[in-house]
Amino acid sequence: MPKFVDTRDDSILPVDGKNLVLFHPHIPPTAIDEIADTLQTRWIGQGPKVELFETAFRDAIGSTQHPVAVGSCTDAMHLAYLLCDLKPGDEVIVPVFTCTATNIPLLYHGVKIRFADAQPGTLNIDPDHVRTLVTDRTKAIVCVHYGGLPCDMDPLQAIADEIGVPLIEDAAQAVGASYKGRPIGAISDFTAFSFQAIKHITTGDGGMLMIRDPDLVSKSKRIRWFGIDREAKQGGTWENDIREIGYKYQMTDIGAAMGLAALKTLDETLTLRKSILARYVDRLAGMDGIEVVGAHFKDRVHAAWLCTVLVDRRKDLERKLRSKSIESGQVHFRNDRYSVFSDFREAKLPNMDAMEERYLVLPLHTQMSVADADRVCDVIQSGW
Ligand SMILES: *Cc1c(COP(=O)(O)O)cnc(C)c1O
Repeated sequence: MPKFVDTRDDSILPVDGKNLVLFHPHIPPTAIDEIADTLQTRWIGQGPKVELFETAFRDAIGSTQHPVAVGSCTDAMHLAYLLCDLKPGDEVIVPVFTCTATNIPLLYHGVKIRFADAQPGTLNIDPDHVRTLVTDRTKAIVCVHYGGLPCDMDPLQAIADEIGVPLIEDAAQAVGASYKGRPIGAISDFTAFSFQAIKHITTGDGGMLMIRDPDLVSKSKRIRWFGIDREAKQGGTWENDIREIGYKYQMTDIGAAMGLAALKTLDETLTLRKSILARYVDRLAGMDGIEVVGAHFKDRVHAAWLCTVLVDRRKDLERKLRSKSIESGQVHFRNDRYSVFSDFREAKLPNMDAMEERYLVLPLHTQMSVADADRVCDVIQSGW
């Protein structure tokens, strides 16, 4: 297998009003007041705003599961893996095409990673391939809603139910997505969200694990804080033995303050992002040599975090866009290319092989407008 090579021409474009950059953080103006308010209290680490944010986020996505705010989506994924009690020798089926944060925490557990192929046309995990990877050692199935498009949840859940293992969703890109009328974050055993700098909502860095089983909530909160039961500790008693290994995975009130401000504008954020994606889809429909990934599903709502296209002669299009001051890029790479996952390479991932040289991410963020998407489409339609 060829070595991982970063093929970008040069460094990313500067943000100068003329260049259209690929990503930009979304910071609502009220975030500044929320943070200032927090800085004037005694709680800047994990305090009351973290709990307020947990509840507000759960309500905003329309879930009744149990939210646990953490320091990142990577923390949330690791927390889910800890709650599944994964042990060396266990096997976990994961998507080969995702942010490395989905799969790196599995390496902490020494489990055997089984990379499942991507699905043509969506780049999401292919449930048909997942089924062929099941063994009697399979202990969990992981999926990622790439770009914000929900995976085929019914077939994935059916496989998980059949073999009696949890389904874990990496929903870092899928705030506001839904599948067959059910919000992402309300469906499976565990769903992890990210509030990293360029996600729909940012808390600087942060994450949320939605947990279905109420019996796992207090354990998850202990693991989040060294293994200590903070509520009992605040009771002032020394009944606080530590019986399990914990981590320092909490969210801070400063982050939660940003998150609370961002939630107030989540509807507008989603509306703008969706209309930019819809414009790309409309304008590029029917063009030869280019296709927007995951554009035409009627049974699920796309959270419009990324606009990814499958394109012929990708390098040429990237260069053409760059010559017109428009940034584009691959953003994520198939995980089996990284040395750290080299023990887990599968013999054949034909769909991923077919798409590997073809996917390209176009600008989509709240500092741009639908007219900016038109500008990108004009350049694409002029040929590359
Ligand atoms: C951003 C992202 C992550 C990582 O989130 P952090 O909050 O930075 O840990 C994980 N998975 C996916 C799919 C992502 O896009």
